[in-house]
Amino acid sequence: MTQKTNMVTKEKSNLDIKYPMLEINLKKIHENIKTMVDLCGVAGISIAGVVKGFNAIPEVTKQFVDAGCKYIASSRLDQIIKLKKYGIEKPFMMIRIPMFSEIKELVKYASVSLNSEMETLNMIQRECELQGKSHKAILMFDLGDLREGVFNQEEFINLAEHVENHLENVELYGVGTNLGCYGSIMPTEKNLGRLCTIAEIIESKINRRLEIISGGATSSLPLLIDGKMPSRVNNLRLGEGILLAEDLEKFWGYSMKHMHKDTFVLKAQVVEVKNKPTYPVGNIFIDAFGTKPTYEDRGIRKRALLAVGKQDFGLHDKLIPQKQGVKIVGSSSDHLIVDIEDCNVETKLGDILKFSMYYPPMMYLSENEGIPKIFI
Ligand SMILES: *Cc1c(COP(=O)(O)O)cnc(C)c1O
Repeated sequence: MTQKTNMVTKEKSNLDIKYPMLEINLKKIHENIKTMVDLCGVAGISIAGVVKGFNAIPEVTKQFVDAGCKYIASSRLDQIIKLKKYGIEKPFMMIRIPMFSEIKELVKYASVSLNSEMETLNMIQRECELQGKSHKAILMFDLGDLREGVFNQEEFINLAEHVENHLENVELYGVGTNLGCYGSIMPTEKNLGRLCTIAEIIESKINRRLEIISGGATSSLPLLIDGKMPSRVNNLRLGEGILLAEDLEKFWGYSMKHMHKDTFVLKAQVVEVKNKPTYPVGNIFIDAFGTKPTYEDRGIRKRALLAVGKQDFGLHDKLIPQKQGVKIVGSSSDHLIVDIEDCNVETKLGDILKFSMYYPPMMYLSENEGIPKIFI
């Protein structure tokens, strides 16, 4: 799509390069995915590679396919359609509960979806009949995180029996859950164990084994690493943990040394270098976004202003400076301010500074049509 037009493949003379840019290392991403596919494979767990965090850029998605993900997953149907048109051939998994308004395209483009509503499933059935197709449903159970899924166990089992016995074209493919996204609930042996117990109750009622028990996202990886993943869980839907591997280290304390973290790198140009006070001068009111930040007075310090802003990366505190000594001070829509007083190597006007990142900037930068994506 329009991404193509923004792609710069060769860095020419310095002045021709357009900044800010997002540098995406396909080889490192491929290696990360392979590491995860192997780690999960040992436990009999397949991976649905979640591509929503980088706007399903096809070149990156291709790494998920080549490195061995069993499914390509997104919460946005338009991304799935884009990938299918690009020529990616893998079973596509729709991981947001489908809207009524997208059921036609869902049946046409996705082979699996996560579901929690009987009425929606009935509509999928009717659409399958119209299109002469079948569709696989993973029923979502809410273990307490309180986003999607059926919360009541009895209702959940009824729903499973309904799909199994009354919907001819909708296959009851399995069950799944999502944790940590709204309620910040940690995946544990106990709550995922409950999902498996419920799966087995359903299996006893339908007299067959369910194909898939999908035990969550990146936040379920610590259980796997600790060897505590309930054995019936045989699928995870992974995005962040594969792409950046920052969260498990920062928030969970797991060493992710075998994973590359500089897979997505923002490169931005310095447009001003000055010595300035660190405490604003005058009456402090509100900033560009209507909030009242606090400022620490550290005297006069050397700082650089970069031509990139919140409109590009969303949140500056989710960027990680690559250059030794650089500290992020703040940002507005189009500017990023960094402290460079402690840099051993001088930062000069016109320099390009690099930042690796957590999930939010990856998401914003990938979606921003104005930012060139460079693949290495
Ligand atoms: C986004 C999402 C995932 C992937 O989350 P990560 O933290 O990036 O691994 C998995 N499942 C669902 C339902 C999601 O919406």
